[in-house]
Amino acid sequence: MIVVLTGAPGAGKGTQGELISERLGYRKVSTGDVLRKHIKQGTEVGKTAEGFISQGLLVPDDVLLKLIQVELSEDLNENILLDGYPRNPAQAQALSSLKELHEVAAVLHLEVDKQELVERLSGRLLCKNCGRSYHKKFDPPAASGCESCGGTEFVHRDDDDLDKISVRLDVYNQETAPMLSFYKDQGLYQRIDGSGDNEEVFTKIEAALQKTG
Ligand SMILES: [Zn+2]
Repeated sequence: MIVVLTGAPGAGKGTQGELISERLGYRKVSTGDVLRKHIKQGTEVGKTAEGFISQGLLVPDDVLLKLIQVELSEDLNENILLDGYPRNPAQAQALSSLKELHEVAAVLHLEVDKQELVERLSGRLLCKNCGRSYHKKFDPPAASGCESCGGTEFVHRDDDDLDKISVRLDVYNQETAPMLSFYKDQGLYQRIDGSGDNEEVFTKIEAALQKTG
């Protein structure tokens, strides 16, 4: 089965995704990681995707779907946490066409109010090596380096500048609202309050997933 994890930038998707994977045994499938893996391994679909990326183009939906399909075919009994896909109703429809492999059991929407998101994002620092995120004030990286990879360089993304954050959040809401409606109609949508600390949020996710079975 598939659980889709979605949420605005800064809502804590990365952290919660790690926890769901580590503690509940889900295999995290994120489009970014999957793309990188297939390009690195030089698989057929990886080469197709690389062709678009090298021209500065977005990877088209049918190629993304093919990548997801390959990943979903690996083990039909595992639990999959899908991160970064689907992003719109067309992709959500396409994903339903793979239900012979895995069926979407729940869509968890991590929601945090805009003011808090702005505060989180404007202080965000990313590990230059692995992309793990930290926060200048609330979660600074340790002197010994990144918890995930030991990297010692941390960067602030231009995208996380105050004036750009608000625009990004609005774009995110506009883009994902139709996809969320699609899943609301199917009774798969579950809102998760993403405020509070990581453990509190994880407890809510765990409860939501237990309901799903
Ligand atoms: Zn790192």
